[in-house]
Amino acid sequence: MVIELPEKVKYVIDTLMDAGYEAYAVGGCIRDSILGRKPEDWDITTSANPMQVKNLFRRTIDTGIQHGTVTVMLEKEGFEVTTYRIDGEYEDGRHPKKVVFTSNLIEDLKRRDFTINAMAYNEKDGLVDAFCGIEDLEKKVIRCVGNPEERFQEDALRMMRAVRFAAQLGFSIEKNTKRAIVELAGNLSKVSAERIQVELVKLLVSNHPEEFMTAYETGLTKVFLPEFDAMIKTPQNNKHHCYNVGEHTIEAVKNSPQDKILRLTMLLHDVAKPVCKSVDEQGIYHFYGHPAKGAEMAKDILRRLKFDNDTIRKVTALIKHHDDMPSLEPVAIRRAIHKTGLEQYPALFAVKRADTMGKNLYKRDEKLAYIAEYQRMYEEILEKGQCLTLKDLAVTGKDLLAAGVKPGKEVGNILDQMLSHVLEYPEDNQKEILMKRIKN
Ligand code: ATP
Ligand code: MG
Repeated sequence: MVIELPEKVKYVIDTLMDAGYEAYAVGGCIRDSILGRKPEDWDITTSANPMQVKNLFRRTIDTGIQHGTVTVMLEKEGFEVTTYRIDGEYEDGRHPKKVVFTSNLIEDLKRRDFTINAMAYNEKDGLVDAFCGIEDLEKKVIRCVGNPEERFQEDALRMMRAVRFAAQLGFSIEKNTKRAIVELAGNLSKVSAERIQVELVKLLVSNHPEEFMTAYETGLTKVFLPEFDAMIKTPQNNKHHCYNVGEHTIEAVKNSPQDKILRLTMLLHDVAKPVCKSVDEQGIYHFYGHPAKGAEMAKDILRRLKFDNDTIRKVTALIKHHDDMPSLEPVAIRRAIHKTGLEQYPALFAVKRADTMGKNLYKRDEKLAYIAEYQRMYEEILEKGQCLTLKDLAVTGKDLLAAGVKPGKEVGNILDQMLSHVLEYPEDNQKEILMKRIKN
């Protein structure tokens, strides 16, 4: 097995080896290289201790020095170099109580989560694969190194990582590993929201986000997103749907572009359906008000999962408007853009398309044609540079004050009225015309 190491990785490894230490590229980069995927980053594992590493390179950063990790900077690129270590016992499934350095590579590989992530490589020794990682890559399985119950008890996040890797690689989770997840899923509650968030996003933007169902089936969603379990339990007895809310959600995620905002939006766009459900006399299900309520719920959920405010703002706005259907007339479209906020476009069209593709075939072509025309009209409006926000209005607050309007609420009211007028008559967005209108 020959793996093409990048020049800089070779340089780091050679420098360590020339100084008499062992050094290998390790983990995800080896897995991805063998699979023919482009590694995100190259991690290096070494017998040298952190001080010894620091002494060999001009520029280093103490990334996690207490855990043995030093980042070596070469030009603008950073490479994490970590001393061989044994992760002592984990405290309540969260942090290793103490980290013990070791001089034995195999000990270091043993602490890693999955067999496919526990391989090391350098040019001198070739591939070191002590736990049948290659075999599992060929079988396309995610399997714990060692006893899965023990490994998940040490760090419960590994259960989320198993699902995430299955989703990224299109692998399945090996039987005993999966059984251990079912058994220990509840332990995920001990893991910080920040760590869960990282894995959740990677899972969602992966090639196989439908693996999210594995998180549900094993009991993991019950811990980090019990709202999803409620969605699965909510059927949709109406002409648009052939799936329950949870299944529809996953179909919609799958049909959206691989983008964090869009996939979070699809994951949560119908989150309020279980609480907004009503059944009419014919037995047809309705979910009145679910977009607005969903936006509220999504805000709480995303906060709970410690997402940043920018993400929360974008996702909740898209959820709030995902079902809006302005009539296909320029005035209505301009008003819709104003109401929704220009920033949500064109993402909103991707959301509406993904939502439609997650439903049954009933009127699908018509729905898609509607979205396409909505988007075409939106683009035309942008092209014409028509006024859509107060910022684009030809009159400012200053203009009004200069014309003798009393400072205060009145200024805002007049500007709002002007904008409302201009949304209807874009050609009137001229200072003279608008000022004349208030005089009358
Ligand atoms: P990615 O492509 O997402 O970077 P990766 O496999 O490199 O995937 P990282 O989270 O960057 O994943 O971790 C690097 C390596 O460290 C892993 O390949 C694995 O060997 C080890 N590792 C990471 N997290 C854990 C964990 N929670 N438990 C055990 N080993 C872990
Ligand atoms: Mg990595």
